[in-house]
Amino acid sequence: PSLAERDKAVIWHPFTQMQTAPLPIPIVRAEGSVLYGANGQTYLDMISSWWVNLHGHAHPYIAERVAAQLRTLEHVIFAGFTHEPAVELAERLLPVLPSNQAKVFYSDNGSTAVEVALKMAFQYWHNLGQPRQKVIALDGAYHGDTFGAMAVGGRSAFTAPFAPFLFDVDYIPAPVPGQEEAVLQLAESLFTEDVAAFIVEPLVQGAGGMIMYEPDVLDRLFQLARRNGALIIADEVMTGFGRTGRLFASHYLKEKPDLMCLSKGLTGGTMALGVTTCAQPIYDAFLSDDKFKTLFHGHSFTANPLACTAALASLDLTLSEATLANLERIAAHHAAFRQRLSRSGAVASVRQRGTLLAFDLVAEGGTSYFNTIRDVAYNFLLERGVLMRPLGNVLYFMPPYCTSDEQLQYAYDQVEALLSELCR
Ligand code: PMP
Repeated sequence: PSLAERDKAVIWHPFTQMQTAPLPIPIVRAEGSVLYGANGQTYLDMISSWWVNLHGHAHPYIAERVAAQLRTLEHVIFAGFTHEPAVELAERLLPVLPSNQAKVFYSDNGSTAVEVALKMAFQYWHNLGQPRQKVIALDGAYHGDTFGAMAVGGRSAFTAPFAPFLFDVDYIPAPVPGQEEAVLQLAESLFTEDVAAFIVEPLVQGAGGMIMYEPDVLDRLFQLARRNGALIIADEVMTGFGRTGRLFASHYLKEKPDLMCLSKGLTGGTMALGVTTCAQPIYDAFLSDDKFKTLFHGHSFTANPLACTAALASLDLTLSEATLANLERIAAHHAAFRQRLSRSGAVASVRQRGTLLAFDLVAEGGTSYFNTIRDVAYNFLLERGVLMRPLGNVLYFMPPYCTSDEQLQYAYDQVEALLSELCR
């Protein structure tokens, strides 16, 4: 049997479970922006493997740092112990985050980074003796697949089986251009004294369809949230580490979040790691001799030294001049490609933040998540060696920062060919 058939026999493989779904594609190696298939085919990874491989695959610098750490200290219980990679990573992250962030809490991935932020927010109010139970989130948001993260994400058919177990959340629509005043008006009535926290993906709602909004309206939402003390959680799991053109999307804002969630690009895609950071007053609410006031949350792999080392190496690369130049270079190519896109009748709502370029496909087939355009686009591009996974009818580029001009042009050309096909 082939690898894909062996996979099907023993693995509960998300996203290819339906009987009619194609078998997963075996990948044997990856380097830079290219995935190498078992049968000699190659794929340009234009989505950084779900937005994590910032510096491309198998970056030699990250690999060497992790390999050295593997031979020195691969893991140690973090309860009662500490180590250089964990401390150094926290020391280096805090100064590059919004200036009020004071403490780093480690977990395992984006979902747990969000889960921890929500637990911090609820317990903050509990510890103050003023419990608050409501959270406000943006409609259509995606914050992860664990229960708390599902609760604050936009509810969908996928979360229906769990609906009875998800805590109450009030949703406000994403404040897209043109809708700002209406959203602010609704928010005005919702940010009452019982709101524990407001969670938001700054500037770009990712999995919800690469929906973009302006810093101004977020600042005004933050101010409304603050009026009655709601804690602000910035989920930068997708937007962090340069993707939007600045190191963090929160750097576009005047207001500062109280809590931040980081993952995905944190380790450059080599290892799973989650980080939740918080401002000092939040940490202070947990400082007590009463052990029930501490945050009782720990994972077996909390602050894994290999993952922290990968994050340190990735941060070196992210802050290098070469990467800064690449961010500008890719953003400029995207901006030029937008001209070409705007000439196509199959495209609407072209939008860009830094190296993230997104647009709607508007051919026949509908705009629901499972529509025919999505499959047509995915398969068309894959057959031509380009990996892009549309979100419903939204197609987007989120390439690794090392992607060359030629690779980008090749991917653009294939998308143009797709658009011509859709217009036929
Ligand atoms: N928050 C955001 C904004 C995300 O985009 C994602 C993943 N798509 C998550 C949280 C969850 O991260 P993970 O898949 O690592 O659990």
